[in-house]
Amino acid sequence: MQERDLIDKLERFETGWFPQHAESFKAMVRDGQHPSTLFIGCSDSRVVPYVLMDCGPGELFIVRNVGNLVPPWDSTGDAHGTAAAIEFATAVLEVNHIVVCGHSHCGAMRALYEEPPACCKHLRGWLSHAYDARLPVAASAEALRRVEQRNIVLQLSSLMSYPMVEARIASGSLFLHGWHYLLDEGVVLVFDPATREFRPRGDYSFSGSTAAVMRAESDAQRWCMQPHDRSV
Ligand SMILES: [Zn+2]
Repeated sequence: MQERDLIDKLERFETGWFPQHAESFKAMVRDGQHPSTLFIGCSDSRVVPYVLMDCGPGELFIVRNVGNLVPPWDSTGDAHGTAAAIEFATAVLEVNHIVVCGHSHCGAMRALYEEPPACCKHLRGWLSHAYDARLPVAASAEALRRVEQRNIVLQLSSLMSYPMVEARIASGSLFLHGWHYLLDEGVVLVFDPATREFRPRGDYSFSGSTAAVMRAESDAQRWCMQPHDRSV
């Protein structure tokens, strides 16, 4: 893409798209934003949250990073963009849902098996938040799909370390969801707390609380080593 193309895209936004939605944006500026869902997804360019969730402006508060990771909460208050976004969405915007959306063919999950270049010190440190999702096997396509799912569960578990998340869940006003988006199939597998497996959307039972599972399985590694994982 040429630099001129970037400017042309701005022109199409200002003269084409925005005029069609101007009233909606004026209302959202006047009334503030009230998104119902915090979407935590990978930075991968092939993941498009608004398309995936059939949403428009104002509906999603989005955090995207390499590997859809959630650093554990700590009391130091050190500068951390993802942690700040989770706190803001949960304690200030009071979203009702948090979706951790991993995806197939995720470069971050593959990078758990292939060390990033030595110059990428931040990337190396960041990926440590996903180390417990690794499987002690070769990084086959099938194994990586399982690692991607294990990572989603690991990050859901990490969300439970945030005091405001824990409190909102306890009050029944916040719900957690784990999704595994298969890029080449256009399918999203949903973590089912009842079976503790990722299942097709149509098979999802709506019969349990993901938070309850995470609370019971405070050591995410225990979930990772359930029998169905050993077949990978
Ligand atoms: Zn990814």
